[in-house]
Parts: sequence; C-alpha cells; structure tokens
Amino acid sequence: MSNSTVDNIQMVDVVGQYQHIKQEVDEAVLNVISTAKFINGPAVKKFEHHLAEYLGVQYVIGCANGTDALQIALMACDLKPGDEVIVPSFTYVATAEVIALLRLKPVMIDVDSNTFNTTVEFIQSHITPKTKAIVPVHLYGQSCDMESIMDLAKKHNLFVIEDNAQAIGADYTFSDGRIQKTGTIGHIGCTSFYPSKNLGCYGDGGAIFTNDEDLANKIRMIANHGQSKRYYHSLIGVNSRLDSIQAAVLDIKLKHLDQYAMARQQVAAAYDKAFTTIDALQIPTRSTFSTHVFHQYTLRVKNRKRNELKDYLAEKGIPSMIYYPVPLYEQEAFKPFYKGEKLSNTEQLSQEVISLPIHTEMEDEILKYIIKCVCLFFEG
Ligand SMILES: *Cc1c(COP(=O)(O)O)cnc(C)c1O
Repeated sequence: MSNSTVDNIQMVDVVGQYQHIKQEVDEAVLNVISTAKFINGPAVKKFEHHLAEYLGVQYVIGCANGTDALQIALMACDLKPGDEVIVPSFTYVATAEVIALLRLKPVMIDVDSNTFNTTVEFIQSHITPKTKAIVPVHLYGQSCDMESIMDLAKKHNLFVIEDNAQAIGADYTFSDGRIQKTGTIGHIGCTSFYPSKNLGCYGDGGAIFTNDEDLANKIRMIANHGQSKRYYHSLIGVNSRLDSIQAAVLDIKLKHLDQYAMARQQVAAAYDKAFTTIDALQIPTRSTFSTHVFHQYTLRVKNRKRNELKDYLAEKGIPSMIYYPVPLYEQEAFKPFYKGEKLSNTEQLSQEVISLPIHTEMEDEILKYIIKCVCLFFEG
C-alpha cells in the first residue's frame, strides 16, 4: 500500500469532488463575477427554482446559512417569548440555539438509541399547553418518522420545522406508499449548504422550504429586512442572503446530488459488511420509512472503548469525529433550560458514537485501510 494514498485521509474530500466538476463550476463562478449580479442575482433564482423542482416543494428561499434558516423559520411562526419549542438534545447546537435566541424555550428531548432520531413518543410526553412548535432533526442523513410527527402536531396545533441540514435528498415513505423528500413534509424545512454537508457550497449558505404560500411570503420578507417593497418594512427581519456565487456552485452540484448519495451509500455498505460481525460495534440502523443519504456514518461502540478507538485510528492517520460529545442540556449555555431530567439515550450515545470518514471520493484503498484498522482494534 502506497503511503501517499493513506497519508492524507479526510473526513470529507471537498477538493477531490471539485476536481470532477471544476470546469463547469469555474465557468459558472466567473459568469457571476463578470455580470456582477452578486446579490439576489439570476443565479439565486435559478438555483431556488431547481432545488424546489428536485425536492418537489412549492417554495425555496435561499438564505445565508443553516442556522439563519432555522431562525427565520421560527420567526415566521409568530411565537411569543416563553412559548415552548420541542427539540432533540442530541443534535448540533444551532437547532436549539436559535430557539433560545428568540426568547423561546427549548424543551430538549431524548432520541432513539438505534436511529439517533427523536420519536413521536418522546415528543408527545413533553407537550404542554405552552408548546407551539417541534423541530425534528433528520440526524446523519435519515428521516424522523414524519407521518406520526405530523399527526401529533395536527392534533395539538403545533408548527413543525424540519432541520434537514444533514438529510437533503433523503426520501420518506408514508404508510400509504407516498414518498416525499425530507424537509418538505413539515410546515417549514431548513437546510445548510456548509461545505461538508451533502449539498455543500464553497462558503456559507442555507435555504428554507415550504408549501405554504403565506409562510413563503413571510419568510422571504423576514430574510430581507422585513420588506416586500424596497424601503417599506412591515416586519422586523434580518439580512440573510444566499450569495449568487454560492448559488451558481450549488446549481451545478445539485445535478450530482443523487449520485453523490449513492457514492456515500456504497461506502456505508462496505463499512456495514465489515463491521456487522464485530460484537462491540453497532452499525447504523436503517429506518423502514426512510432512505439514508449518510451525511455521517456513525457507529456505536458498546464496550466503552470509543475514545480508545478514536485515538488508535488517529495514530493510524485516520480521522474520526464525535457528533456529539455533550448532550445539549449539559452545555453551559443551555443550563438555564435544564430541568434535571437526564435523557438516558442521549447520555449513552454521547459516550458511544463515532463517525468515520465518508464522502463521494472515497478510494477503495483508503476504505480497505480504514476497515482493516477498525477490525484490528477490536480483533487484534
Ligand atoms: C450544519 C447544521 C446546522 C447549521 O448549519 P450552518 O450552515 O452551519 O449554520 C444546523 N443543524 C444541523 C443538524 C446541522 O448539521
């Protein structure tokens, strides 16, 4: 095995992916520069249109990043300070941060220890008269059980805002066989185009999806200083724009998104096959109602040796990540919202999970090397 190949293993290979689409991307970027339509230019409109078509959703509104998308979505729901918003405790901080920022109350709930996603049972047991919204997170690339969540939300008249930052392109199948893309099932869906996301740009970017025309209009206004007509402000908004250059890049990458997902699924299948016989490892559980686009390939290490495995892999030149090492309610910033209720699955997962390199450019040689090292750690 040539050392040069395994010398530079990365969690995500953004540069390698760019090499395959370089000509198209360079041309599109230069075109934006030469026309100087940097802000809300035709590239943004075109990408929003193509993404709406791909997702099968009525409205797509670009914004500056995934965190802004969540914030703007919540702002569009007209909630009052102190209103409760249910959110999983096992997620990236952004999901809960924007709730607290808007003076709403994040109610942090547990997740299923097999799918890593929250469930309708956990949501149901935390609904109070003050609950106004739920933010399910499709963690690592597969959907929460949206049909049950939507049924529950309807019963209690709650907004559902999907955090789809990790699952863009995943399909959810309803009990009647109907299939919809994640992020288009709730009242509002949010995503991030952070470079390492499945549909990533070359900087920051995000988008908001909805099928509701009134919400779409409001979201567009909020993202643009609360104005629908220039210099006439009917709402307090923010300034959050998807950059035209990023939109041009995304429009090209969108065409490859399904193929990118397939490449990730192939890596996941190879990992599964190799690790399924290792007793101390639990390979990612697939939900029956969702495809998995593998934003992350996340294992559970059940013999308390997760950190040892991470160190061992690092010694072998293999990066790995812990998403997420600390439950949200144990974060200093979220202590004020902590009611002393330990969430046992979240606690356990934060000790057990490890994410291995997975991306669209994984070479066979590297994949085999990672598999060999993981197997060696457990089986000597
Ligand atoms: C990446 C991510 C976000 C935030 O996206 P940014 O573009 O970095 O602001 C929010 N939620 C989840 C689950 C994410 O993975």
